[in-house]
Formats: sequence, structure tokens, C-alpha cells
Amino acid sequence: MAGAGKTVCVTGASGYIASWLVKLLLAKGYTVKASVRNPNDPKKTEHLLALDGAKERLHLFKASLLEEGSFDSLVDGCEGVFHTASPVYFIVKNPQDELIDPALKGTLNVLRSCAKAPSVKRVVVTSSVAAVTWNRKPRTPDVVVDETWFSDREFCKENEIWYELSKTLAEEAAWKFAKEKGMDMITINPSMVIGPLLQPTLNITAGLILNLINGPQTFPNEIYGWVNVKDVANAHIQAFEIPSANGRYVLAERVAHYSEIVKNLHELYPTLHLPEKCADDKPYLPTFQFSREKAESLGIKFIPLEVSLKETVESLKEKGFFSS
Ligand code: NAP
Repeated sequence: MAGAGKTVCVTGASGYIASWLVKLLLAKGYTVKASVRNPNDPKKTEHLLALDGAKERLHLFKASLLEEGSFDSLVDGCEGVFHTASPVYFIVKNPQDELIDPALKGTLNVLRSCAKAPSVKRVVVTSSVAAVTWNRKPRTPDVVVDETWFSDREFCKENEIWYELSKTLAEEAAWKFAKEKGMDMITINPSMVIGPLLQPTLNITAGLILNLINGPQTFPNEIYGWVNVKDVANAHIQAFEIPSANGRYVLAERVAHYSEIVKNLHELYPTLHLPEKCADDKPYLPTFQFSREKAESLGIKFIPLEVSLKETVESLKEKGFFSS
């Protein structure tokens, strides 16, 4: 097994993506040091402790993004560091406190711990297409958004897209820090992540699908890239394991407007009460493309959107978020 005898760590381990990452790392034989904010909260830890291999090779640590030095003992002795912890909220009252400080200061806090630990060979940071897509360049059906794109912080501020700003500032600062320190760092930049939940609580992006089932009778006039959580976790591990991996990796199986998501859900589940109308009367936002080339170089064979949607709905149902 690729990970046998190796120790790695995952920040924000109880989260949606990180839980899958911990599961796949344990399955590959790694010893995993995992940070959670509150190790005494069973909702944040029980699903991790129940994973195959957890009893023997999972070690929980308490750490918080805004506490300087909080991650020192977590990264110490690790060859690989996966930094996934960052708040994911699309609606906030105070963007600085709720999003920007934990994302930006938290990332630098983790990277400073990594720079102090001689064991660390590579750091994989979970960034987002939020740090890629949001600039003044037009997005039309012929445009392919790839890893050379960067979101523009001024554009994010003007449009008050605070989550996007938090991820943009965090990734910019991470690259600057890594360059200064000569650190081997990679960013994974997923689009909207869906697929089965391991954790018992609802995360924001699976919640977007639940909202189509349980929510208002309209769908948003919005268009996103979509990717399965298992592909995202796998890409993190491949980026750590493949020596030649470098730079950023955009992850999107497909770009789809909400109308297409609803259409797919309707085909999969004809009896579900799904919204029939768009929330506004404007033309649908134009589609565009995300490059898959670099992600495929990691060996990712993207799970089709239809499968991801089915897995999401089945998981939401199984966890009791809705009954059909
Ligand atoms: P999630 O389930 O909400 O997980 C976020 C994690 O960050 C949680 O474990 C949370 O800890 C931790 N966290 C938040 N604030 C923290 C703080 N101040 N100190 C310590 N930990 C803190 O969301 P997710 O979707 O898995 O997101 C994980 C990462 O992927 C994030 O960096 C996010 O930006 C990125 N990402 C997500 C998507 C997506 O569509 N879901 C797409 C692209 C990128 P608690 O459990 O204690 O709250």
C-alpha cells in the first residue's frame, strides 16, 4: 500500500471533503493526524473514528485556524500536509471575521507550522475555482477556464462575493509564502463539490441540491462547474504522491446551469417535487468550460455529473435530510 509507514495530516478533518480525504488516506495505509476544532463533539468525530483503519492509524488533534502555532504539533512528523480547513459560507454578516480572517490568516498559520517542520515534503492546499474564475474576462461557451486564470480581488470586493474573495486572498498569500520559503506546495481548485456525505451534518454544497428538493419552487439563474467529492479527495492524494505534480489543479467534471441540474434530477427521480421555473426572467447565464487536462494528468477519471447527483440524493435521503 502506497501509504504504509507514512504519516500525513489533514486540517479541518471533520468537513465534507476532508472526511473523504481521511477515508481514502486510511484505505491507502497512511497514518493520519487529523485536526478538528472540537474533538469532544461526536458529530465532528464519530464518522471519522468509524472509518476502516481509524482505530490503528487515525489520531485526532484539536486546532483552530486563528490560533497561532495551533497546527505545530499536527504537522510535526508528517511527510504530507493537506490543508482543507476554511469556512464555507455564501451568506455572511461580517465577511472579515467569518470568512477572510480564517481563510487567509488560517492558511498562513498552517503554512508557518509546515515551514518549521523538517519532516514536511509537500503541502497540498484545498483552494477553489473561487480563486480562479472571478475576474473581468468574459465567460462564453467557447472560453476554457484553466489554471492560468486568477480571480481578481477588486472584482470580488465590488461584487461582494466574500467567499470567493476569502479563497482568492488565501491562495495568493499561500503562493507568496511558498515561494519565499522554497516550499513544495500544490493547490487543488475544485468547482462545486457534490456526492455522498460521510459526516452526519449537512454541508453547504450538498445543501444546494437539497434546496432544490426541499426548497422554493424556483431554481437560481446560476451556472457552476460540478465535481464529485471522491474525485476531489483522490486528486489531493494523487497531487501528494506523484512527484512531478505541481502548481494548481482545477477540478470540474462539467459546467452546468441549474436548469440542467434540475432536468437531470427530474430524469433520475420523476416523483420528486422539483422547481420548474427560474428565479428570474433574465436569459440564462451563458455556459463556459473548465479545462480537465491538468486534472486528468493526475489520473483523475471524472465521475459523471448524473452519477454524482444520484449519489448526493441517495446520501441525503439515507441521512434523513428528506423523505420521498
Ligand atoms: P465543510 O464541510 O464546511 O468543511 C470546512 C472545514 O473547515 C470544517 O472541518 C470546519 O471545521 C473547518 N473550519 C472552518 N473554520 C475553521 C476555523 N476557524 N478553525 C478550524 N477549522 C475551521 O466544507 P468543505 O466543502 O468540505 O470545504 C473544505 C475545503 O474545500 C474548504 O477549504 C473549501 O473552501 C474548499 N472547497 C469546497 C468546495 C465545495 O464545493 N464544497 C469547492 C471548492 C473548494 P468545523 O467542522 O469545526 O466547523
